[in-house]
Amino acid sequence: MPEQFAISAAPDEIFERYRQVNLIDGVRVPAKAALDVINPATGLVIGQAAASGRAETGAAVASAKAAQESWAQLPARERGKRVTAAACAVLEKAEVIAQVLACETGKAIRTECRGEVAVAADIVEFYGNLGSELKGQTVPYNPRMLTLTTREPLGVVAAIVPWNVPLVLFALKVGPALVAGNTVVVKSSEEAPFATFLMAELMMQHLPAGVLNVINGTGKDCGAALTGHPDIAKITFTGSEAVGEEINKVAAGRIIPVSLELGGKSPMIVCADADLDKAVTGAIAGMRFTRQGQSCTAASRIYVHDSLISAFLERLGAQLDQLVIGDPLDEKTDIGAIINARQAARINAYVAQAEATEGATVARYGTLPADAGLSPDLFAQPTIVTGLPDDHPCVMEEIFGPVAVVSGWSDYDAVIALANSTHYGLAASVWTRSLSMALDSTARLNAGYVQVNQNLTIQPNVSYGGFGRSGQGKEASLEAMVEHFTRSKTIVMN
Ligand code: NAD
Repeated sequence: MPEQFAISAAPDEIFERYRQVNLIDGVRVPAKAALDVINPATGLVIGQAAASGRAETGAAVASAKAAQESWAQLPARERGKRVTAAACAVLEKAEVIAQVLACETGKAIRTECRGEVAVAADIVEFYGNLGSELKGQTVPYNPRMLTLTTREPLGVVAAIVPWNVPLVLFALKVGPALVAGNTVVVKSSEEAPFATFLMAELMMQHLPAGVLNVINGTGKDCGAALTGHPDIAKITFTGSEAVGEEINKVAAGRIIPVSLELGGKSPMIVCADADLDKAVTGAIAGMRFTRQGQSCTAASRIYVHDSLISAFLERLGAQLDQLVIGDPLDEKTDIGAIINARQAARINAYVAQAEATEGATVARYGTLPADAGLSPDLFAQPTIVTGLPDDHPCVMEEIFGPVAVVSGWSDYDAVIALANSTHYGLAASVWTRSLSMALDSTARLNAGYVQVNQNLTIQPNVSYGGFGRSGQGKEASLEAMVEHFTRSKTIVMN
């Protein structure tokens, strides 16, 4: 079992603790090279994370491989108890984890980071309690023979996470993988590694050495070394569509299972009979404006019935104007900073394309912070675009910023067709008081997660995952653990 460690509530201490190290075999192991980690809100370097390559990745996989057999031999319920204890250890240090997360992601501590730590710990705890649910079946075949199926772990799992909700996505992968008896090597996001390292190290205090390993580095050097390693039995990835496609090819070449949670362009349909106030609040929550719109499920295409669109836009604008944009660590802040200059430039390019489109209107809300010490270019106002053609890039492509396109509709079949017109299929929502409209639209929408009159965040016990180019496989829920982190073995005894 790795040593216990004491930390005060100071993010600087955490950045120093993880300076150019990986977490391998239960200890911090120096890496050969380092990468700067920048606080997007200030533009300042907050620390140097490991820039791992083939050697560090190989060491982490070797540690996970060596630990796997004895971990798998523990009774599943015992593994679950340890994972539950690991979740409690995370909650004990929730505030410092949230501060670290705010510093490295630019997300506001009050509206985003504290909630993310709580949800991540909740997911790990949820899986910890499912150890005894890993059941097989007996099959009636021949009364003189015993035929049964058992569920067994896959081996060493490679888990790769992005920067936008790194802890929740870490939890959705690590929780079920460990309880199912696998060992794991996580590659953290090089943009935001430190909160992931801290959460992992707190968990590792309750796990045998080698069961959970975390390495950091770029996708090209560390991510590719991990997915291509011959001892990896399964890849679980959350990130962009382009990288997901690349990883899918790697997995296909090695014939190993892969789960992909990729991008989205989620539609929100507001019907003529919707509760307008509820729909406006739901649009703000669904667009994840408090995460600067940097969310895969962001309700970024909002189709409002023609009879409501003027009132909807007016109320939406009034509420968006109230959101405070500023320092992520300030308790008054609702909206923090965009992750990096590359992402900010991408968002600006989409907005410029909208502005250059005839008939389009671009409205920005809220006030950009003027505080000296904050990076002026990395803050963006919530932006609502209207009057775009249905096939405009801002309508069809994932922007991953605080930009929503609002369009009117009057023909129900046509709006369903528009909602289904992108190559994504992650989430969708419908706002109506009519049960028949709810039943019909939810059946026809081409998305893996469809909600009526709400745009909530993930629930640990409800399976989540996209259709089409939004990915393959599910996360959250018991089914996700059984289907994606175990394999079925048939045993016939004559
Ligand atoms: P990204 O694809 O650039 O990077 C994701 C992770 O993959 C990072 O850790 C990165 O280092 C690694 N990586 C990059 N190239 C790799 C390679 N060749 N091999 C192995 N690993 C590699 O994505 P990002 O910019 O960090 O995150 C934003 C994207 O994530 C958006 O498209 C968003 O929609 C998606 N996302 C999806 C979900 C979901 O649940 N569907 C959730 C959050 C984010």
